[in-house]
Amino acid sequence: MSILERPLRAAILAAADSTPVHRFVKRYGMQLGAKRFVAGETAEEFLAVAQSVNARGFSVACGILGEGVGDPAEASQAADHYCKLLQAFADRKIDANVAFKLTHVGLDIDPELAYANAARIAQKALDLGNTMRLDMEQSRYVDATLAIHRRLRERYPNVGFVLQSYLMRSVEDLRAAMILHPNVRIVKGAYLEPAVIAFPLKADVDENYVRLAEAALAGEGYTAIATHDPHIIARIVEFVDGLGLPKRGRFEFQMLYGVGTALATQLVEEGYRVRLAVPFGEYWFPYLMRRLAERPANLAFFLKGAFSR
Ligand SMILES: Cc1cc2nc3c(=O)[nH]c(=O)nc-3n(C[C@H](O)[C@H](O)[C@H](O)COP(=O)(O)OP(=O)(O)OC[C@H]3O[C@@H](n4cnc5c(N)ncnc54)[C@H](O)[C@@H]3O)c2cc1C
Repeated sequence: MSILERPLRAAILAAADSTPVHRFVKRYGMQLGAKRFVAGETAEEFLAVAQSVNARGFSVACGILGEGVGDPAEASQAADHYCKLLQAFADRKIDANVAFKLTHVGLDIDPELAYANAARIAQKALDLGNTMRLDMEQSRYVDATLAIHRRLRERYPNVGFVLQSYLMRSVEDLRAAMILHPNVRIVKGAYLEPAVIAFPLKADVDENYVRLAEAALAGEGYTAIATHDPHIIARIVEFVDGLGLPKRGRFEFQMLYGVGTALATQLVEEGYRVRLAVPFGEYWFPYLMRRLAERPANLAFFLKGAFSR
């Protein structure tokens, strides 16, 4: 990210907390271009998109948009919703698993509630021969998320988690988790974090990404390389070749729906497994803002939609 883009990114992430911006984007955003990144607001819209994504050769990670839930009933409903979706994947033979934020299933209310809801989803996925993953949120949630992941893994081998390469602590967190033979997704990190805990320079975030990914790939377990960065992907392809890993079975590439499509298609054509994270739901505003902040050029695409109407 350039010097000019950094303040823009901070401004977009700050706007994510602004009520007027929220109201405007919520009202017009879907028509303006949010559909590039979000499958829609309903499960049926999502299932149709998931089927078409499968038809293009990709697996899917389903995410219902929602975070920071403050009502226990709502947190439990989110877990019910995930269980129903897992059933729908099995019934309709859709190649999809689920990935969700613990604050969507109650982490802000009570970690025990979040654990119980996540365990319910893990059990349902296990019964159906499927997997689930805990997304990683802002740094204040990392300890609780790692603790819940560890507890879940004691009972559910089908549960994965995420580490963010912008956090300095992630190398140590990965080292501690390797004993579990984890299913870990490596990402760069999507939130604004202070420089005391997160690398401020993109070059350091990228270097730490490769370090984490290589350490995960060299160990036992399963690694999801979640990035659109062509340089990192080229380095990882070289690394797995050097290790002699087969193209499928020990790792996969992951990208976001609507981002990096040409590269994702090329990887599928080369025989790699690629999973697209496809989100849907009513609460798509913060997700959209994070996608705009990652690449402020997307804002131009979005605003062009607004003014060409
Ligand atoms: C499957 C998946 C799951 C994720 N889960 C989490 C999570 O649990 N927690 C978390 O903090 N973050 C998560 N992220 C987001 C991640 O942290 C990054 O913010 C995001 O992936 C952008 O970083 P990058 O690795 O693509 O690299 P960057 O260096 O940001 O981008 C590399 C290139 O990719 C393209 N690109 C990247 N982002 C965009 C975009 N929004 N629009 C258009 N082009 C773009 C550009 O060409 C850019 O030059 C996830 C990302 C993916 C792919």
